[in-house]
Amino acid sequence: MFASLLLLLAASAYASPIVYPRDVNDTDPFVFTNYNGLNFTQMNITLPNVTIFATGGTIAGTSGSSTATTGYTAGAVGILTLLDAVPQILNISNVAGVQISNVGSEDVTSTLLLKMAKEINEFVCEDPAMAGAVVTHGTDVLEETAFFLDATVNCGKPVIIVGAMRPSTAISADGPFNLLEAVTVASSPLAKDRGAMVVMNDRIVSAYYVTKTNANTMDTFKAVEMGNLGELISDTPYFFYPPVKPTGKKAYSVANVTSIPRVDILFAYEDMHNDTLYNAVASGAKGIVIAGAGAGGVSSSFNSAMEDVINDYGIPIVQSTRAMSGEVPVSDVSSDSALHIASGYLNPMKSRILLGILLANGKNMTQISEAFAGSADD
Ligand code: ASP
Repeated sequence: MFASLLLLLAASAYASPIVYPRDVNDTDPFVFTNYNGLNFTQMNITLPNVTIFATGGTIAGTSGSSTATTGYTAGAVGILTLLDAVPQILNISNVAGVQISNVGSEDVTSTLLLKMAKEINEFVCEDPAMAGAVVTHGTDVLEETAFFLDATVNCGKPVIIVGAMRPSTAISADGPFNLLEAVTVASSPLAKDRGAMVVMNDRIVSAYYVTKTNANTMDTFKAVEMGNLGELISDTPYFFYPPVKPTGKKAYSVANVTSIPRVDILFAYEDMHNDTLYNAVASGAKGIVIAGAGAGGVSSSFNSAMEDVINDYGIPIVQSTRAMSGEVPVSDVSSDSALHIASGYLNPMKSRILLGILLANGKNMTQISEAFAGSADD
């Protein structure tokens, strides 16, 4: 009876605050374990509920020096310490915390990605009481995780990925305010049906397009050609447009996926060597992405080697670009001798994630080429 009431409420307005049933044995008035086994802090039952998934990174990093923004230890403090640093979060939302990992993002693996997607689907999408999810993450490969979650969590609830460029011990650390803004967007009904988003430095950017543009500065995350979806002023989100879906974006399920096949990225350069390609195949790559020069370009000799690998080994090769922005259109890579796949607007890192998801779902070469064709508009 109570469960069907919850579902009814969720169907009418998912972001309306929904109160968790308390266990009669709960003794703390504010903190209890919810029915998914998550520690849940409910200070104010009129607020929306958000689950924060912590993975590590600089946002959870510490240094012996308050001026150091390099050479610190990423992933040193846990979710509770992060939350303690920003008690204002509890004025915005009731929160549950899940410690997925505590690593620098360089150590995030496809196993961890699968765990994140499955837990967000279970603990947030399937729970009518949850309005949205926040993932705290290192910034170095944050765009890959964001793209993966954008593709594999498709319930319409906001999934916000957030990091920091300064460790938690730095003067003017950016993590606490970024985290507050991330929770604010995850709690907002305005953020519904926009896919996953990166919220950092007062900007809201589509996970499908976002990339890290600068190795050091706080204004690093941008969608270079596509721009921002919105911004926050005094912790209030302003979206510039109603919800839109990026051209070519498709939804995938990883519910039955237990591992993601290996996909390697090869960087094109002057006088590039074909053996890098054959070495990748010999080492077990099941798919390859080329960070090509310009619109997917490689030398004519490397092109012949690619056609061997496509035709003789049946390994899909996606041609993306090593340039910061721009499209690789099908017309720039097509040939009569092999099925070349163009990345469209997806950079090499995002192309690698998409190719892994497609291979994990058992797609063949033609289906893979069609899936990429949506983002290469010709
Ligand atoms: N190396 C760190 C990481 O990606 C950098 C950061 O979080 O900004 O985990």
